[in-house]
Amino acid sequence: MSVSFSEVVKSQHISTLIRTYFIEKSGYPIEYLNAVGEELINRGYDLKKYDEQEYIKLISPVFHKGWQNELYNMFKELLERGWAKEHTLIYGESWGTFVFEGILSENEQFLEVVEKYKKIFEASCGECGYKGEIEGQYEPPLCQKCIVKVIEEKTIKNISDIGFEYYDSPLYTDQIGKNVYVYWNDIKQIEIMEVYGELHSEIKLNLKKYTKKEEEKIEVTMSFLGEYEIDFSSEYAYNFFELIKHIPKNKLTKAQLIKIEKILSFKRCSICDKHAVLHDICLVCSNELPSITIQDSYWLKSYGTIENIISKKKKEFNENKNDRAELRYKFEKDKSFV
Ligand SMILES: [Zn+2]
Ligand SMILES: [Zn+2]
Repeated sequence: MSVSFSEVVKSQHISTLIRTYFIEKSGYPIEYLNAVGEELINRGYDLKKYDEQEYIKLISPVFHKGWQNELYNMFKELLERGWAKEHTLIYGESWGTFVFEGILSENEQFLEVVEKYKKIFEASCGECGYKGEIEGQYEPPLCQKCIVKVIEEKTIKNISDIGFEYYDSPLYTDQIGKNVYVYWNDIKQIEIMEVYGELHSEIKLNLKKYTKKEEEKIEVTMSFLGEYEIDFSSEYAYNFFELIKHIPKNKLTKAQLIKIEKILSFKRCSICDKHAVLHDICLVCSNELPSITIQDSYWLKSYGTIENIISKKKKEFNENKNDRAELRYKFEKDKSFV
């Protein structure tokens, strides 16, 4: 091993250290946990002193913001039933976000409390705690108001031949994001990649504010990256293709210009009616085009005609649109698709 554990943990964010030491203990060798423990002590955490209340205080930031009140209610009920910190909570990671899985315990009473609160968490907005209309496909689940915020943050704005504005999201929960305006003039390197995914292909755009020559000389660190390199993906950003359209031609190679032209020649989708079909998949409604696929030929028997299948798919799309704010936004507001 070339780098010692204590060297590795030195550069880690405090939330990572706490998560490792208090929650994911079982996943690491004891030598590593000792190094993490030492690092926590170095940073002023007195591990010998911590009791149940300290444990709760330390781990609560790992839970979503909107769940904090209910989290404290849960611990209150657990403590009343004799819970102790040795019954560690278990978190699972899903798409990079932490979700609550349960508790490491055989005690029926504890488990009952945890099960009750798991349901409460699932029905509460992870951002603001609201318990009304929640969309569960998010990690954490979100209310309509908070989804609008997510959409806002994923939308590239003020796109022109001069530049564009985007939201630079924070790396950790204790940092804050900000809107950043970028001038095309400051971009020195552009890369456009197409990644063929399971569902449809994803286009990735990488913009660098330094030249190839400068790149060789500099030591690229995480903080450096955030300031000088910007990544967008067609999967996550709104107005993505509008942005691609506005990259100044003189910044692109001949091959890139051809690639962009190919990507932007969307065909019209017969289900959602948008010009959004790339390689036979619609980037708005995700239907496979031409709308009659091999799979559909099975459906022909029960649906009679191709028109019936199309109208069935249209109905499904409209239902999905009503249920999912992001899909609605992509359909109604995303400038990428006309
Ligand atoms: Zn909310
Ligand atoms: Zn479509």
